[in-house]
Amino acid sequence: MAHLFFLFILWGWLFQGPARGVPALVWGGLTAGLAGLACREPFLIALPVFFALFAAVSAWGAKRWQEAVQAARLQAGRAEERLNALEDSGIRSAEMLRACRERLARYKRLRQIANSFCASLCLEELTQRITQATAELIDPADLVLLYLVSPGTLTLELKSVFRRAGSTAVRAKTGDLFDQWVMRQAQPLLLEEPSQDFRFAEAGTQALGRPLGSLLSVPLASEHRFLGVLRAESVRPRALGPDELRLLRIVGDLASLAIENSRLYDRMAELAITDDLTGLAVRSYFEKRLAEEMNRSRGLGIPLSILLIDIDHFKRYNDSFGHAAGDKMLRHLAALLRQMRWPGEVVGRFGGEELVSLLPGANRQEALSRAEVLRKEVERSQVELRRLRMEVTVSIGTATFPGEGQTPEELLKTADERLYLAKERGRNQVCSG
Ligand code: GH3
Ligand code: MG
Ligand code: MG
Repeated sequence: MAHLFFLFILWGWLFQGPARGVPALVWGGLTAGLAGLACREPFLIALPVFFALFAAVSAWGAKRWQEAVQAARLQAGRAEERLNALEDSGIRSAEMLRACRERLARYKRLRQIANSFCASLCLEELTQRITQATAELIDPADLVLLYLVSPGTLTLELKSVFRRAGSTAVRAKTGDLFDQWVMRQAQPLLLEEPSQDFRFAEAGTQALGRPLGSLLSVPLASEHRFLGVLRAESVRPRALGPDELRLLRIVGDLASLAIENSRLYDRMAELAITDDLTGLAVRSYFEKRLAEEMNRSRGLGIPLSILLIDIDHFKRYNDSFGHAAGDKMLRHLAALLRQMRWPGEVVGRFGGEELVSLLPGANRQEALSRAEVLRKEVERSQVELRRLRMEVTVSIGTATFPGEGQTPEELLKTADERLYLAKERGRNQVCSG
């Protein structure tokens, strides 16, 4: 019987084919069970049926298992893909974050630069700050140069240089062909490889006398007025590019504003201490300078003198030729005093037609001879008033520190008394005691 059973299994196997092992087993088992039934053998019925059922259930389980494994593999594949995508976007986000942080740091730095430029009204200090800040902002730059146009001429003057350690000294103190180009075109210049640029060719880079890998240069301008050139250089080709140029343009705009502000401030400060009519120092400024110079003289133990100068019979010019002619006379005298000014001398308008001169370091004798030279020069000069050549004279009183006054007030009082004496003695003379 057992042989029959295995025969049926083999038959089922062959019938179903070896590739279909499990259905063959089921088929074989069932057929053997039928055979057992025919033989009325309960054991031979139950065993193949159980065997067939077991094979069917385990095959079903295996199939489900395989399906589950397949599904899990699919899920794992998808998860892996998603992970890769996340990783990619993570890298991109990190890069974006880094770029944002860098940009933020640059903007913060630009804000600090703008504040520091605004805080400085002294042109010399400001030009130093501009080159320093540019070098800090544009890392690859080895050299930063600032040229300003000299007032009245169209020549560039090197005002400030920032050199990183090891970079070569700058010879061209009045700008070279690159700066001339920026000045003429009033446009920024970017040369990532200057030797390859047909506009400048090799002659330009060789004339520099220092290695030039890349160059940036921007014009500084304020309300269409050309102020100068801000330039950055690197010894490495392509170290400076469009990004750096963008930054240099921003610094250039800030620098232009700050330079213009500082010049306006200087002009305002000058106007505040300058007399409109004569162009000489106003009385308040003269008195401030006198006090400062007296302190300095006291500290150094050196003398100081003042001259008080008054036009003789000035009222007559006004009366005969009018107030405008009187003004012209005053301007003539002021110009003469300015022309004859000593180094360090301060000349001011004390009030009306009285002028005053401060001579630091001059003793009594030097003050007297200086006053005498001045008086003679005025006497020799002529002024044309209403087509008439007029002569003019002055009277001068002198006073010397420390012997003839210990304070500015005392010194001025002495000079005034002596001026009065000179008038009394007949005018057109100097009185020094
Ligand atoms: P003295 O030789 O004694 O100095 O005689 P003076 O005429 O020069 O002196 P006085 O003080 O009598 O007259 C000074 C005149 O200067 C009076 C005033 O009208 C005139 N004056 C003062 N300031 C100005 C000014 O800014 N322009 C003009 N044109 N005249 C002025
Ligand atoms: Mg007078
Ligand atoms: Mg007077």
